[in-house]
Amino acid sequence: MIVREGKSVFKGVAIGNIFVYKKAEKAVTKETISDTAAELTRFEAAKEKAMGQLKMLYEKAKRDVGEEEAMIFDVHQMLLDDLDYNESITGIIENDKMNAEYAVFMTGEQMAAMFLAMEDEYMRGRAADIHDISDRLISILNGTQVSPEAMPEPVIIVAEDLAPSETVQFDKSKLLAIVTQKGSANSHTAILARTMNIPSLVTTDIEVDQSYHGRCAIVDGFAGQIYIDPDEVTMVKMKEKKKKADEQRALLQEMKGKETVTQSGKHIHLYSNIGGIGDVDAVLENDGEGIGLFRSEFLYLECDNYPSEEVQFEAYKSVLSKMNGKKVIIRTLDIGADKQIDYFELPKEENPALGYRAIRICLTRKEVFRTQLRALFRASAYGTLGIMFPMIISVKEIEEIKQFVEEVKLELARENVEMGEVELGIMIETPAAAVISDLLAPHVDFFSIGTNDLSQYTLAIDRQNQSLDNFFDPHHEAILRLIQMTIENAHKYGAWCGICGELGADMELTARFVQMGIDELSVSPGYTLELRKRIREC
Ligand code: PEP
Ligand code: MG
Repeated sequence: MIVREGKSVFKGVAIGNIFVYKKAEKAVTKETISDTAAELTRFEAAKEKAMGQLKMLYEKAKRDVGEEEAMIFDVHQMLLDDLDYNESITGIIENDKMNAEYAVFMTGEQMAAMFLAMEDEYMRGRAADIHDISDRLISILNGTQVSPEAMPEPVIIVAEDLAPSETVQFDKSKLLAIVTQKGSANSHTAILARTMNIPSLVTTDIEVDQSYHGRCAIVDGFAGQIYIDPDEVTMVKMKEKKKKADEQRALLQEMKGKETVTQSGKHIHLYSNIGGIGDVDAVLENDGEGIGLFRSEFLYLECDNYPSEEVQFEAYKSVLSKMNGKKVIIRTLDIGADKQIDYFELPKEENPALGYRAIRICLTRKEVFRTQLRALFRASAYGTLGIMFPMIISVKEIEEIKQFVEEVKLELARENVEMGEVELGIMIETPAAAVISDLLAPHVDFFSIGTNDLSQYTLAIDRQNQSLDNFFDPHHEAILRLIQMTIENAHKYGAWCGICGELGADMELTARFVQMGIDELSVSPGYTLELRKRIREC
């Protein structure tokens, strides 16, 4: 039995087989070959495998995000079968006697350049698709592809690290636990694991070794340990622990339907954080009173190109309709820093966390902002919508946002689009915003404190950097004072104030937040019932 230790980001016990996830190798070697027939067969086999994967991806996307969004995988299948693409690859193998990887790489580069030179914007966008299918083929050919869509059964993922763009590809019903070598408790992968309610370990001293693939393991999210090839005694002990945890969870069920009210009678709005439509069921199952943070950027991360107004409208409408009148706060696009999306083609930065991200992108790329706002306001007719804007640092930004929002609303009104009443709020996640919260409050309906970023910027500790964990104190007095100041200033100007960062679920602080006068706490769905119990004890 092998035991490895990590930092737990969600409690629970998972038992299952390991799936070692490795990033596909993109480097291509150029080799002269003698057996062209064998090389052609190798290419055909890789193509067949890629085609099978794309078909599966199409079905999965159709199920998860709808037919229109799934079409991209249909396009990929057509490109993979394209005559010119195939003739170019087989020509390089047969005539130039080059290896298949190199033939695919060269063809991909040439065709992508051809698409990029076209006038039509849609055709230019196909360059990314050509790169995508070529990368897929190359990673199959050089044997470095471990494809998450090929997971046969629910598994424990072991990886070096996972970028948000990688985590979104996993079929969530097939994840038992996530164990990574890197990562930090506030990284988006950790947040995602919490949203999915699965035990997860980060900064684990585990080797990302292919030989672990398929082996039995137990992840103990209470003790922060993973057991590989557990012995019988450990298995019995862990099964017992899992049973107890399940029973504990079952006990919390009695909190369902109860009011989230303190001993002195103050009602706290207990909302949930989600990353997509698929998480709404967990909100309802856990009796969430609303959604306090819908991280809309995950919709963008799941796509290979800018999601259209229609795709976004359908997604927002679906969440609002499912929530059936309960409040849904959707945060506008918050990419940049660790959430990188290739098709945005963002410049490389020295300090991405302090760089071009979130509202800064929306205010400078207004066409992207307009599409999202149009989709949001169109969806507002289907429920109770709040919109909030991330990474605010000034009154000027709010004024510019509100002016743009008015423009978009006017445009929609002229098109006779029905819209509902929408609350507008901002995230308080920079020390600047907290310190001038008295100046910001008169301009908004609500504040939502993003403690993940507020902590990182206040303490000057990168939330992604695990080696600084010893310096990181989430209960630092500076953070708590900024929260207190923000709540007081919101109330002074008639705005309400909530917390949607991970600190909102820190039960050691619940009483203090209540004392400070917090109006709302928005947490991962799995924490809802426990937090309700805690608030009722306050
Ligand atoms: C935060 O910063 O606390 C927050 C909720 O936003 P995110 O974690 O998505 O940056
Ligand atoms: Mg944030």
